[in-house]
Amino acid sequence: MLMNTVNQPKQMVHIQRSISNHWVGDGFPVRTLFSYSDLGQKLSPFLLLDYAGPRDFPPTQARLGVGEHPHRGFETVTIVYSGEVEHRDSSGGGGKIGPGDVQWMTAASGLVHEEFHGSEFARRGGKFEVMQLWVNLPAKDKMAPPAYQAIINNQIPVVTLGNSAGTARVIAGEFAGAKGPARTFTPMQVLDLTLSSNEPFSIPVPENHTTALIVMSGTLLVREANPLRSAEMGVFSLEGQSIEIDGADEVRALLLCGEPIPEPIVGHGPFVMNTQQEIYQAMVDFQAGKMGRLTR
Ligand code: MN
Repeated sequence: MLMNTVNQPKQMVHIQRSISNHWVGDGFPVRTLFSYSDLGQKLSPFLLLDYAGPRDFPPTQARLGVGEHPHRGFETVTIVYSGEVEHRDSSGGGGKIGPGDVQWMTAASGLVHEEFHGSEFARRGGKFEVMQLWVNLPAKDKMAPPAYQAIINNQIPVVTLGNSAGTARVIAGEFAGAKGPARTFTPMQVLDLTLSSNEPFSIPVPENHTTALIVMSGTLLVREANPLRSAEMGVFSLEGQSIEIDGADEVRALLLCGEPIPEPIVGHGPFVMNTQQEIYQAMVDFQAGKMGRLTR
């Protein structure tokens, strides 16, 4: 029993830097910060994180983004920091999200969707900065019906961190007594952190959950580890119940914690399943129109 009362910090075991730099369609200049294709189960239940921008877009009448494409077997979570994203999918989900808003799309059994800059933002131009996270589904839920959660800024609780070190917006999961609005299939926390402190502070996180801290801007001093800077991700040990920080200089960061899903990950492009056979079936089903079509 004594063991449980000791606060043992998690250790930062790995720093990951952006592994690729590419455009998704003509609207999203992304740095892929991690992907299951090289980290495998290490970040489970999280599969992939694309960081789009920050980049200034000039005013345009063009529709910038990516047209109709499918997904099956997981969820896409789009967090807007600056700019606007318009989305439409074949299950009837859709809408426009702006700064502070989050779109939590459950592709599950399959849908097709399109993702574009919001038309008003495109006409105005300006700074565009968006994160897109892919969250895996357990095998038993991969063929669940698609769903769409539009989470707007003012639905997301904001809590103050200890030692006045900053704030956490609780998008998913429970943190410091607040409950995030996102419905998830497995236990996880997704937190949008704004940190600034010359003093050490501690962020409580669950034992045995995958834990990754992604810095978007600023410099974060993780205790007994190298500093994390823009577009760098620290991966922490499963063991331990806190992250110990020595200081933070104007940091914006995303904290991901989740219970690992101990199942095989087999993916191809927009499909992430458990076996090659299921990937083949996803291609066949998409070609046959079983994931639906966008109506014009
Ligand atoms: Mn997509």
